[in-house]
Amino acid sequence: METKVIRCNCCGEEYIVEGGVVKKDFLTIEKDWGFFSKKDGQRHSIVLCEKCYDSWTAQFQLAPAISDTKELI
Ligand SMILES: [Zn+2]
Repeated sequence: METKVIRCNCCGEEYIVEGGVVKKDFLTIEKDWGFFSKKDGQRHSIVLCEKCYDSWTAQFQLAPAISDTKELI
């Protein structure tokens, strides 16, 4: 069984993924910076755990837009 580790970029916490299952969810951001940035040609990848996502977005002037993605039965 393949074991993989997901690490939160913010707090550094490690989450073990066994057989493709980790009972957590994460924010993953992948950004290919373009010509009008100072990082043209670079791809930046970030993983945040839910706790760090919450404390990060709590600092925003505008809260993230939230909508339902599935019908809860
Ligand atoms: Zn974290």
